[in-house]
Formats: sequence, C-alpha cells, structure tokens
Amino acid sequence: MPIEPPVASPRSLPEAYAVIAGEPHRPMAGGTDLLVQITGEIGEPPERVLDLWGLEELRGISLEGGTLVLGALTTYTEIRQSVIVAEHLPALAEAAATIGAAQIQNRGTIGGNAANASPAGDTLPILLACDAELVLGSVRGERAVAAIEFWPKYRETALAADELIVRIRLPLVADRQVRFRKVGTRRAQAISKVVMALAWRTDPGQDSSPWRDVRLALGSVAATPVRVPRTEAVLEGSSPSEATADEAAATLAAEIEPIDDVRSSADYRRAVAARVLHRLIRDEGGW
Ligand SMILES: Cc1cc2nc3c(=O)[nH]c(=O)nc-3n(C[C@H](O)[C@H](O)[C@H](O)COP(=O)(O)OP(=O)(O)OC[C@H]3O[C@@H](n4cnc5c(N)ncnc54)[C@H](O)[C@@H]3O)c2cc1C
Repeated sequence: MPIEPPVASPRSLPEAYAVIAGEPHRPMAGGTDLLVQITGEIGEPPERVLDLWGLEELRGISLEGGTLVLGALTTYTEIRQSVIVAEHLPALAEAAATIGAAQIQNRGTIGGNAANASPAGDTLPILLACDAELVLGSVRGERAVAAIEFWPKYRETALAADELIVRIRLPLVADRQVRFRKVGTRRAQAISKVVMALAWRTDPGQDSSPWRDVRLALGSVAATPVRVPRTEAVLEGSSPSEATADEAAATLAAEIEPIDDVRSSADYRRAVAARVLHRLIRDEGGW
C-alpha cells in the first residue's frame, strides 16, 4: 500500500465531482481522521485522495430562512467563533469546543465528522437531535438525506462512492432548547465514552410548559450514533421533575446497548449515560 497516495486537488466542486466519478478517490477535508489511516496501521489506507480543502463552495455558515446551514468544510474553530451559531444553536459551539484541542479544531470539519461515521463522533448526536439533513452532491446533482438515515451500520454512511457531503442543514425551531453533554477521560483530546444531545421545545411563550418534540441522541453507546425512542417517550409531555429524571434514566439504561472496548466498559457507559441524563434533567428543573 502506498504511504503517500496520489492526491487530486480540484479547483471547483464540479471538477471534484468529475474526478471522483471517474476513479475511486477518498475525499480529504481537514485530514484529521484520514491521515491517521494513511500508513495502514488504523483502517484502510486510501489509494487515491481527493483534497477538498480548496473548495470555497463547501465553506460558510449561514441562515437560510429558518435553517442553519453549515458548509461541509466548516471547521470547529469556525463553529466556535460563529455569531450565528452562538445565537441559534449554542450547543453546537459547545460540542465543537470539546473536540480534540486547538490544532484539531482548526482543521477538523463537521462534514468529516459525519462522513467518518465513528459512533463516537461528537457532533453526530446534535445532528440527530436537531433533525439535520445532509446534502450530498455528485455529477448526478444533489440529494438530501436525513441524519437519522445517514449512519445505517457501524462506520457506514448513506454516501455513494462518488458523492461528497456538500453542506449540513439544521432546521431551527422556535422555543427549542438543545443541550450537549460529553464524558471523556479529560477535558481535551478525549474521544467520548458517552456523548449526548437532548432537544425539546416548549409551548410558545411558556418556558415552563411540558416538553414537546423531545429528541434524545447518543454516541459511543451503540454501533452507530442513535436516537432512543423509548426514553424520548418518557420525556415527551413531561416536566423536568425528579420522578421524570428517575424514569428517563432507568429507561435509557435499559434501552442502550453499549460495548466493552479500550475506552470503557459497557456497564460504565450504561451507568454514566443514565447518570448524565438524570443530572441534565435536574439542571433544567433546578431542584
Ligand atoms: C488527536 C485527535 C483528537 C480528536 N478528537 C476528537 C474528538 O474529541 N471528537 C470527535 O468527534 N472527533 C475527534 N477526532 C476525530 C476527527 O478530528 C473528527 O472526526 C473530524 O471532524 C474529522 O474531520 P476532517 O475534516 O479532519 O475529516 P478527514 O480526516 O478529512 O475525513 C474523515 C473521513 O470523512 C471523509 N470525508 C471528509 N469530508 C468529506 C466530505 N465533504 N464528503 C464526503 N466524505 C468526506 C473522508 O474521506 C474520511 O473518510 C480527533 C482526531 C484526532 C487526530
């Protein structure tokens, strides 16, 4: 296997589509996952690389109507510094701040996090909890895939071999709250043992109304990032009371199927996921 595979560096998105349609290439955004694989010690080394870094079409954070749109090449540093994200989805900035450390945040991208499809990818529970759509592009045009359908199996995505993630669309919902929690070995450079995003909305103008449209998504507790519908059902229509927290935490512990691996044991992950959710609900309830 080549240690330094040939790299194509297209100047435009149509050129990138043509290259990847002609011959299989592994896209490279920031390279923070891909370059670790290049020696073949971890994962499959790429035979040919398509360097996306110069493609301006894949950059930028904007609001389009009621949707927050992030170009696939948006870095964690850009997310952390974005006034738009701070105002409309601060939980995403919080998640970005926990990823790696400054070097990784300067190069690592949200599109790379999604395409890499690690069950521990820290932004993925937010994409699930916020009903994000991933817009994929190729010579055939663009199509949108809901986040809930994007990671069908362990480390697999809905991307076809000649497709790129172009942008990620996060619909903004009035009166919605989104919370993010991550448990790792330390505060920086730690892959998650458990990562969680919880979203709900309240009735217009009534901050203390029951929770509606609850979405709870987790990473590092299954083969893919997952939503947990049984736990969501406990929280739907509820208020953040101690009884709700007890029931939701117990349901979550029974619903997830974590594995033992080098970072953690299944028992630890199950107990911590339940504990983190319990505390999150307590923080909201203020008891
Ligand atoms: C020291 C270190 C610490 C880290 N800490 C964390 C952490 O705390 N949390 C976390 O979630 N991750 C972490 N990571 C993993 C990594 O930084 C993130 O997953 C990052 O978001 C990957 O983005 P990238 O742009 O570097 O992707 P790349 O490495 O360029 O690509 C990753 C994969 O996605 C594909 N890809 C990239 N962009 C596209 C696109 N637009 N369309 C189609 N396919 C694409 C590539 O082909 C490749 O398979 C860490 C990595 C390192 C080395």
